[in-house]
Amino acid sequence: MADVLDIAKRRGFFWPSFEIYQGCSGFYTYGPLGALMKLRIENLIREYYMIQEGCVLIEAPILTTEDPWVASGHIESFTDMTIECQKCGEAYRADQLIEEKIGKDVEGLGLGEIQKIIKDKKITCPKCSGVLGNVYDYNLMFKTYIGPGKNKISGYLRPETAQTTYMPFKRLYELGRRKLPLGIIQFGKSFRNEISPRKGLVRLREFSQAEVQFFIHPKQRDNHPRFSEVKNLKVPVLTKQDQKKTQKPRMMKIGELVKKKFASEFITYFLARSWQIYMQMGIDPKKLRLRQHKDEERCFYSKDTWDVEFLSDNYGRIELVGIADRTDYDLKRHMGLSRQDMKVDWNGEKIIPRVIEVAYGIDRPLFCVMESCLREDRDRVYFAFPPRVSPYQVAVFPLVRKNGLPKLARSIFEMLRRCGFLVLYDETGSIGRLYYRQDEAGTPYCITIDYDSKKKEDVTIRNRDNQKQIRVKIKKLPGVLRGLFEGEKFETLGRVIKQTAGKQKSRK
Ligand SMILES: [Zn+2]
Repeated sequence: MADVLDIAKRRGFFWPSFEIYQGCSGFYTYGPLGALMKLRIENLIREYYMIQEGCVLIEAPILTTEDPWVASGHIESFTDMTIECQKCGEAYRADQLIEEKIGKDVEGLGLGEIQKIIKDKKITCPKCSGVLGNVYDYNLMFKTYIGPGKNKISGYLRPETAQTTYMPFKRLYELGRRKLPLGIIQFGKSFRNEISPRKGLVRLREFSQAEVQFFIHPKQRDNHPRFSEVKNLKVPVLTKQDQKKTQKPRMMKIGELVKKKFASEFITYFLARSWQIYMQMGIDPKKLRLRQHKDEERCFYSKDTWDVEFLSDNYGRIELVGIADRTDYDLKRHMGLSRQDMKVDWNGEKIIPRVIEVAYGIDRPLFCVMESCLREDRDRVYFAFPPRVSPYQVAVFPLVRKNGLPKLARSIFEMLRRCGFLVLYDETGSIGRLYYRQDEAGTPYCITIDYDSKKKEDVTIRNRDNQKQIRVKIKKLPGVLRGLFEGEKFETLGRVIKQTAGKQKSRK
């Protein structure tokens, strides 16, 4: 079977960083295809939230002072229970180690209880069978210093963008003409010093996020003005009550989730919107589900949290987006520590807004899109990416590298580039090889320039998914491509070439 990770490395989507120096787990570099695709996935989220939901975009530093994390509780509580081998020094997440060794779910247990299980069950180092030390709380934030000398202060790489949006809340509220709900979106890197990340793009020490914070009136969470638009969407759901008995989701309408009081309208609305966004990205809906966090797994700041999860063949359960009701916890904490007033005047009433957070990962969906879109078709492997997220939209090549064909092909490439298409030019191989390359890059359409192109001023467009071909006049190309990207039917946009004829031609 074709392997996503193998193609990713070979074609230049992404690969482990620092590889010339033995590497370091938890860091990946995006290559020419991956970086472009990541940008397009971000754009899809950005366009939805800015255009459809009226959010505004901000950008805060990723390196911060210490205070925000004292206020948020991260200094105190953003920890994983860790245990080290006394012989070889390898560190492990204590809960995961117990789960792997004896298959017991220890979520919610305290340090003492965890320590006792490890001792009672005589769990040793999986690597060298050495004796394990004491369990301790390990903070996942990267710490550094800002400035030199005696007056340097502690700095942290942010573990989430959220706090950097909460701090300027009052200013953003004023800039937004004192309206609630107020939606703020922020894209950027966040950092977690994971103990031993081994899941590729799914568990990174440095990762990309798109976090949307909705500041709403405290009583508005059960009333989203556009809820009726999504209420009939049917999705597989796993509530926290369900999880006491089963891991199998049940099909439910979004509206039912609210009616049966499993979740608030605001949370449910954005679960549905996220679901739709993942459909647009090309993620396989058969592998998706909505899951509510159990009480013992929920973060300290949240009253209710739901994820959209992807069940990956490579990595198991992957959380793609987390939607949390953070109440007024964060604003209150910042108000307490900074002594700055975070209250707003709402029709004569002084309130601290409630925050509904929609926190997207970017690296994870990119991987899930790749896993979902990988197709094997006899001798051919390709990614069936939707044109909205594929790294390139179209590739141009000459049938042969002689008789003026490269020159004509280049001029068509330049013309399409000037029209704003994400277009690639390639002439370094036989036509079969060029197609194969673009199939593995997930490019939806390839344009071939042949001898007829010079005489009749037309070209062949080949459809990646079914390998069908149409013949189109060069001057009509931009319009035809636009039609294709807007969903017009391939066969209606040009003269269809018989499959056999197309194949003979490409073997020439
Ligand atoms: Zn060891």
